[in-house]
Amino acid sequence: MNKEYELIIIGGGAGAFAAANTANKLKKKTLLVNYEKILPLGGTCVNVGCVPSKIMLHQGEEYYNAVRSKFRAIKLQGRSDFIEALKETHEMVKNFRNKNYEKVIEKQEYVDFKEGLASFVDSHTVKVDNKTFKGKHFLIAAGAYTFVPPIKGIDKIDFITNVNIFNLKKKPKSVIIIGGGPLGMEFSQIFHHFGVKVTVLQRSERVIPKFDSMLGEELRKHLQEEGITIYTNADSKEVKKTKNGIELTVEIDGKRKVLTAEKLMLATGLQANTKLLETEKSGVNLDEKGFVKVNEFMQTSQKHIYAAGDVTGLMPLETTAAKQGNFAVFNMFENANKKINYNEVPHAVFTSPEVAAVGITEEEFMRKYNVCLCRTMTLDHVEKALAIKDTRGLIRMVLDPKTKIVIGVHIIGPMAADIITTATYAIKNKMTIYDIKDTVHVFPTLSEMIKKVAQSFDQSLDEMACCVE
Ligand SMILES: Cc1cc2nc3c(=O)[nH]c(=O)nc-3n(C[C@H](O)[C@H](O)[C@H](O)COP(=O)(O)OP(=O)(O)OC[C@H]3O[C@@H](n4cnc5c(N)ncnc54)[C@H](O)[C@@H]3O)c2cc1C
Repeated sequence: MNKEYELIIIGGGAGAFAAANTANKLKKKTLLVNYEKILPLGGTCVNVGCVPSKIMLHQGEEYYNAVRSKFRAIKLQGRSDFIEALKETHEMVKNFRNKNYEKVIEKQEYVDFKEGLASFVDSHTVKVDNKTFKGKHFLIAAGAYTFVPPIKGIDKIDFITNVNIFNLKKKPKSVIIIGGGPLGMEFSQIFHHFGVKVTVLQRSERVIPKFDSMLGEELRKHLQEEGITIYTNADSKEVKKTKNGIELTVEIDGKRKVLTAEKLMLATGLQANTKLLETEKSGVNLDEKGFVKVNEFMQTSQKHIYAAGDVTGLMPLETTAAKQGNFAVFNMFENANKKINYNEVPHAVFTSPEVAAVGITEEEFMRKYNVCLCRTMTLDHVEKALAIKDTRGLIRMVLDPKTKIVIGVHIIGPMAADIITTATYAIKNKMTIYDIKDTVHVFPTLSEMIKKVAQSFDQSLDEMACCVE
């Protein structure tokens, strides 16, 4: 038997690191266990998620837009190299990991680190290699991996995921991506901007179905205009290996179609990393999909065991994983009862144009109250968008009809992921459209779209000069 800890954290990603940081501040003797064969320290976000996908998206976009300038004076020619882009991304990720994770853990006085696969022995003990460790409290932050849908023949295909894409040695000529959520959409543009022929298959009737319906429709329109093929209501049935790649049989709107491509990519949602952890020995309950069940305070069915991040299946974002890890530690040691209001959590898709949202959608509000006070504005009302010749997109604002407090903002357009933070402040601080209108914005900026859509509740924008309020 090895040391006994106040807290044992299983995982080394965003949820785990936030928890370790808080435990260190609270001077609680902590052990963090991460198994690098699943993912190195830093977990999904830094190694195979947010960071590398955004580096790849940026590189692709820089090239794609440079050779397609909307201004007469700019005429550039060039070429891009997909494999070189992957290599540089890999190097940048290594530096990020080293600076933000490996070096950080060394500096945390109260946190020990152990490399290896953790599995529960009982509700107070985990095993790592041949050693056992006792803990008064636990945090399960073991993350998740790509869910493999039950498509006939899928087990015989070397499909791409966000994890193994960085091992590609050759740019594929064509890719079919199953999944039209944020991941599928981002990867469709990564491939497309580097000259790969892309087809996306989405099971439901809209891409990014968790966002306001107009955003999904608008995003589909822009990606299709660029040349990405998107099929919705597409149910993949069977996949076979062929001489040149793969052949996929899919039912689209009930009609069978056979598609071919060099590679298949899965962007089909998540499955929790709970099997190797042997959660059943801890007494922690899982839901029917295998995610760890937690209450609003991130506590599992075992009072001393908490969970955070993708392993809970709640809202798979780096930001929420970290906040949950942080709150879980305050709750376990200080009875702080901290919980996240998911209506105040902004989320984004980093395509071009970007998609970003915070708060309630028009559809949700209508379903609940059968009334909605909403305005939608196209970006040709925003002077900066006109100046940079990028008016793709729109913004929709949802208000509480009684108080005129902003309760939802939904954007598709350039820089949407940055601009949404302004809306998040408004929602979190219960600001009305009058508070927003009275706030001076820098002119000309894209963030003025928040002010303009607020103005549009009381006045037609077509009747207004650009900077009257
Ligand atoms: C392609 C992609 C792009 C994304 N982009 C964004 C974005 O732009 N913005 C955003 O907010 N979110 C984004 N996300 C989501 C975000 O990356 C995840 O929600 C977040 O990283 C999850 O963190 P986590 O701590 O829950 O799990 P992870 O970061 O997955 O960490 C889990 C860790 O647990 C370890 N582990 C698992 N089982 C064991 C075990 N039994 N013993 C020891 N260690 C174990 C693993 O090795 C891993 O390091 C993206 C995700 C993907 C896949």
